[in-house]
Amino acid sequence: MAKILAVLYPDPVGGYPPQYARDAIPTITGYPGGQTAPTPQAVDFTPGQLLGCVSGELGLRRFLEERGHTFVVTSDKEGAGCVLDRELPDSDVVISQPFWPAYLTPDRITSAPRLRLAITAGIGSDHVDLPSAISHGMTVAEVTYSNSISVSEHAVMQILTLVHDYLPAHEWVTAKQGWNIADSVSRSYDLEGMDVGVLGAGRIGQAVLRRLRPFDVTLHYCDVHRLPKDVEEELALTYHPDARSLASSIDVLSIHTPLHPQTQNLFDDELIGVMKRGSYIVNTARALIVSRDAVVRALDSGRLAGYAGDVWYPQPPPSDHPWRTMPHEAMTPHVAGTTLSAQARYAAGTREILENWLDGRPVRPEYLIVDGGGLAGTGARSYTVAG
Ligand code: NAD
Repeated sequence: MAKILAVLYPDPVGGYPPQYARDAIPTITGYPGGQTAPTPQAVDFTPGQLLGCVSGELGLRRFLEERGHTFVVTSDKEGAGCVLDRELPDSDVVISQPFWPAYLTPDRITSAPRLRLAITAGIGSDHVDLPSAISHGMTVAEVTYSNSISVSEHAVMQILTLVHDYLPAHEWVTAKQGWNIADSVSRSYDLEGMDVGVLGAGRIGQAVLRRLRPFDVTLHYCDVHRLPKDVEEELALTYHPDARSLASSIDVLSIHTPLHPQTQNLFDDELIGVMKRGSYIVNTARALIVSRDAVVRALDSGRLAGYAGDVWYPQPPPSDHPWRTMPHEAMTPHVAGTTLSAQARYAAGTREILENWLDGRPVRPEYLIVDGGGLAGTGARSYTVAG
């Protein structure tokens, strides 16, 4: 029998379950390109429920306990003696979400001789030290595509929020109880006609490009894998072979690569410095792809007109993290990929991975990041590990 340890974000402060705004969510059975949505044998939750917090338990308890497995759920993941560190040494499986990541550092992996599987309930497995996972003989899997469309919608929302300067205008009529039109519009522009680019044109990046096409913008992208010619033509895309060429050509950048050695700290003072004065960056990918302090400096100097991020480091960030107070920001806590709609898909995908792994069946290749002693599946296409 296996011990499964799930590290999930805390329950809502108002108690669990919350009062839901809607009674149902649309049923999504497949994704662009033909991949099917998760196909577990069954689920023990109602789609649309809050599943990613401790009481939600990703809807897994009955399934695991009926099969005789031990299931431990906690949000306590940092500091000496935390539940994660206490429970890890005899765990076989760790489940974690990027929104509240269980950082599986080399030391933690070494402390867990039985650990064989790390599941990311969501997308993005950089919270697992992948070289250590490889040398430990682990499988790392994530629920590819489960929240890609959710994130693409969030990125488009943040682009419009920044360019139109929506949040300060909202504040004038709510918190400030005013009607200050001139103040509200003094940094407000239309997106129409701008050059917009994505770094990383994978599942999320392509969905962002497709959603932006009707806004009559000029679209650009940079990816280590060039898109097929017909896609480039359909979306009238300009391809850039490197991030510098992209950065210097656009007004708005949306970042959609994984965090790995090639992308860590990529947008530093130097690369942000080649962007046009008054550019915008939206980063729903991973915080460490940009230099924290370079972003603050660029907002202060006006090189950047705005920065909207959904991702921070560490998570949760300290109360004095400079992104909480920098000017011209439209930050969210890491929520883009954990809408109630997305949770239903990644909870079902987590169960599908567990059903297969516990029964000795292969996990879908597109869900794999690390397997068989190296990067595998989506991991082999989208990640690198330091050599
Ligand atoms: P994906 O694997 O489909 O696409 C990633 C793309 O990045 C690939 O096309 C890959 O070739 C490209 N890439 C990798 N390294 C590159 C480099 N150095 N330069 C240019 N391109 C590079 O992944 P996805 O589903 O689109 O997700 C992308 C990332 O978004 C995830 O890894 C995760 O970090 C993040 N994410 C965030 C949230 C959220 O809630 N904010 C949710 C899901 C995913």
